[in-house]
Amino acid sequence: MAEKLYYIDSYIKDFVAVVKSCVYDGERWCVELDKTAFFPEGGGQAADSGYIGNVRVFDVQEKDRKILHYTESEIAEGEYSCSIDWEQRFRRMQNHSGEHIVSGLINKRFGYDNVGFHLAEDYVTLDFNGELTAEDIADIEFAANKAVWENVRIYAVFPEPEMLDSINYRSKLELTEDVRIVTVEGYDVCACCAPHVRRTGEIGIIKIIDHMKHRGGVRLTMLCGSDAYKDYARKQESAAEISALLSAKRDDIATAVKKFYNDLQNEKYQTAELKKSILKAESEKLTAIDGNYCFFYPAAFDINSLRTLVNEAMKLCSGVAAAFSGSDETGYNYVMGSANIDLRAKSKEINAAISGRGGGSPEMIQGSAKAVRATLEDYFKN
Ligand SMILES: [Zn+2]
Repeated sequence: MAEKLYYIDSYIKDFVAVVKSCVYDGERWCVELDKTAFFPEGGGQAADSGYIGNVRVFDVQEKDRKILHYTESEIAEGEYSCSIDWEQRFRRMQNHSGEHIVSGLINKRFGYDNVGFHLAEDYVTLDFNGELTAEDIADIEFAANKAVWENVRIYAVFPEPEMLDSINYRSKLELTEDVRIVTVEGYDVCACCAPHVRRTGEIGIIKIIDHMKHRGGVRLTMLCGSDAYKDYARKQESAAEISALLSAKRDDIATAVKKFYNDLQNEKYQTAELKKSILKAESEKLTAIDGNYCFFYPAAFDINSLRTLVNEAMKLCSGVAAAFSGSDETGYNYVMGSANIDLRAKSKEINAAISGRGGGSPEMIQGSAKAVRATLEDYFKN
């Protein structure tokens, strides 16, 4: 098996290795090296990508005690300069080391186990087999960041199998061979096969951005290092924008949004009351006529409010009481009522005349019209 350079030093990004074999498995080329810094997928962490010579390595898997580098083209046997995609790897190391700190703290304080870990492209989820309150999570997050500020050492060892029983570590498995123990000094001891940062300070920041109940326990969504920094930058931008829009200090934007929302609700209520009183005044001045009634209102008057006006007007006219809301530019919504004419039967003719569509009952129809006000008035004139 290839020498695992990522266990000697997780910071090796460029190295020289010999291609021992390159075999096509029907889908891709599988390359074996004499030594490798490419971490194969494992322990919840995805495989590294990078280059062997100028050939792209898109996946790495450990199979049957072999480390297989998957490439899209063939590589001849010989010596090559190799490089791994460092930005991606370092981001994963920051998140993975951050995960160990948070899991270690939760295990120590609450006795819960980490039962699920997913290191996605721009966030991490951690599942625990017990519930945590928002306050518990805030405490853990603060303690985890203190571990970062203390800049303690993170190191890995392969203890002799007979030593394993005497070590207290998380993720204990039946396995005794090649068990790698990763220690975050003072915070966590855990079996893990993945590369980590050297000191906690390199994690930069640990931020838990979400939590939800999950299978009787809790699922945390966490960002560390560069992911957390990018998230902070995005949120800062949003906060600045909201602060400018509401002319509020950045730390007061939630209060300002609440006030804005309450003011808006209040405005809506007052507008509705105002519309009601306008329509009531209009209803009160209606008299009995022979022919049609035709009303026009701005789009702010919705069909529901106009329906009450039409209800009154249809009792006082021999023809049709029609109310339109809208404008020539945007078109109109309408509601029409009649005590004497079967509007359902007549709706086809009406819609054809006003470039409209809609329908309803024999007493009342509603819909929309594309015709301009002059055409509508002309059609309904007495
Ligand atoms: Zn791990």
